[in-house]
Amino acid sequence: MRGLVIRNTGSWYVVRTDDGQLVDSKIKGNFRLKGIRSTNPVAVGDFVQITVNAEGTAFITEIEDRKNYIIRKASNLSKQSHIIAANVDQAFLIVTVSHPETSTTFIDRFLASAEAYRVPVSLVFNKTDCYDADDLRYMEGMMHLYTTIGYPCHACSALQSTGIGALRESLEKRTTLFSGHSGVGKSTLLNKLIPDLNLRTAEISAAHDTGMHTTTFSEMFSLPGGGYVIDTPGIKGFGTFDFEKEEVAHYFREIFQISADCKYNNCTHTHEPGCAVRRAVEEHLISESRYASYLNMLEDQHETKYRQGY
Ligand code: GDP
Ligand code: ZN
Repeated sequence: MRGLVIRNTGSWYVVRTDDGQLVDSKIKGNFRLKGIRSTNPVAVGDFVQITVNAEGTAFITEIEDRKNYIIRKASNLSKQSHIIAANVDQAFLIVTVSHPETSTTFIDRFLASAEAYRVPVSLVFNKTDCYDADDLRYMEGMMHLYTTIGYPCHACSALQSTGIGALRESLEKRTTLFSGHSGVGKSTLLNKLIPDLNLRTAEISAAHDTGMHTTTFSEMFSLPGGGYVIDTPGIKGFGTFDFEKEEVAHYFREIFQISADCKYNNCTHTHEPGCAVRRAVEEHLISESRYASYLNMLEDQHETKYRQGY
């Protein structure tokens, strides 16, 4: 039987078969990913084959080739990664400019990692109902900035149900990873987008309720209009992607574009004479906040290398 992995709680996987049954499955055999050691060889978003044995236990016996997958690098000593999701078409980063404010450093890090995974991102500014005039101006500036760079932006209020229609349209028939700091209204938004979400959650729990509800596992929900949303509770971003210092600029689209005009090929855009990027920042062609995020990520690279003891 073929199915889609919609939830993973430790060693159990909830698979929705092509005919709509929810089947709790275990893994049979040793799935290994090339070059990665992961805690979960099978991930939410995977298409799999399952077989049920004589005792009635279902096993995942095959994983179909993935279009892509998003991993979180582990910080622990085991160096095991965790696959957050597989077969993702796009990501929605839910942000708020107040209550609480999402920092531009966080946004830009997320965008840079998504570039590395080649996953298109849209920014969703939520809680517009509680923004004052300053917040709204700031949000409009941000929306203009990110739209210009090439990231579609949406403004909405999950609480008051404004701006939800446009979101629905861009989610249709695609698999979208939802991300964002906790408190930005991800759950509220999901409940708006999927009116029977509570019911579905109950349904999934009924299929396999060990009482072991940890919030760090991804979960996939079907959208009424077709398509899926993958919720990643407790996961703040894609995690630290292993960037080489020289690579960081590649993942800031507008910086990369302008860097072609730098005097030196290996320009780090920090101090070099004839740096087109720094000139563009001075001329406000590249935003200061984006440049600051770029520098911030470069700094981190230094730090990582230092910690690794060179
Ligand atoms: P999550 O942690 O991202 O899942 O956030 P929640 O959905 O739990 O929302 C966090 C808090 O923000 C809750 O108190 C929500 O009621 C509130 N909230 C969510 N969306 C909105 C919104 O559009 N406007 C306002 N004013 N509050 C919201
Ligand atoms: Zn430069």
